[in-house]
Amino acid sequence: MEDRDGFIWFDGKMVPWREATVHGLTHSLHYGMGCFEGERAYATPQGAAIFRLPEHTKRLFNSAKILQMEVPFSEAEINAATKEVIRVNQLESAYIRPLLFYGAEGMGLSAKGLKVHVLIAAWSWGSYLGQEALEKGIRVKVSSFNRHQVNIHLCKAKATGNYMNSMLAQREASSCGYDEALLLDREGYVAEGSGENVFMVRDGTLYTPTLTSALEGITRDTIMRFARDAGIPIVEKQLTRDEFYIADEAFFTGTAAEVTPIREIDGRIIGSGSRGPITTQLQSRYFDTVAGRRDDHPEWLHLAG
Ligand code: PMP
Repeated sequence: MEDRDGFIWFDGKMVPWREATVHGLTHSLHYGMGCFEGERAYATPQGAAIFRLPEHTKRLFNSAKILQMEVPFSEAEINAATKEVIRVNQLESAYIRPLLFYGAEGMGLSAKGLKVHVLIAAWSWGSYLGQEALEKGIRVKVSSFNRHQVNIHLCKAKATGNYMNSMLAQREASSCGYDEALLLDREGYVAEGSGENVFMVRDGTLYTPTLTSALEGITRDTIMRFARDAGIPIVEKQLTRDEFYIADEAFFTGTAAEVTPIREIDGRIIGSGSRGPITTQLQSRYFDTVAGRRDDHPEWLHLAG
């Protein structure tokens, strides 16, 4: 990642990509307190457009508030900087990674007086789980790792340290030959994927877990709006793993994973074992909207230029 041309916005300045480095005693490297976003810009007929940029920036600031990290920029400045990163790197489409972290001014858990650094990087990144996954669906394993208990890690923050749990689950699933993990909460109900929210369809109704132990996904919100527009009933409730086993359809949502069908969970084939009709409908509406092929939500597209 580090050896490429381009620029990263770092503490208010555009820095050449290879020079956007930190000291080894950077506090956030040691204790994992920091927060970040994952955003995408898509190629549209009008140029690169960042999907739901203000909502992502708002979530970044909410994460910082939960972690009591003071952001030395305004939301408007971060929105403008994000667009600038797309422009200076001449990206037609991109994955965008804003990050807030504590500097190397001192050690110790209080982090008193430490500088909060902000960087925003963007690069071309295709579909997270692969193009074939978007069409054929993926194989998922219920993880032996639980998702965060709400009083241990704070799930409404997209906090760097929270992702140790995601990495353990993802690696376990992958070493067992699966594509992705499905994590249960401490009570045993389905929470989310390692980096995605999850949905299932049964008898024409769309179900998704309540957000107790899961991130408030922006793609999740987008998909729920599409379902409402299409008159598909939606139920948010605690869901068990066996409700997923007998679902007609299931899929993951996330900025990176977009709308990825799930074709198998723990050796049980979901529905017909291929992308189901409601998944197909919501997925194509998603791709049409982000690429500006529909204009029903113009407020979600933020042109970089
Ligand atoms: N849950 C987790 C743990 C995630 O990392 C992500 C990706 N940000 C999501 C859900 C989906 O969130 P979004 O749709 O906003 O990308």
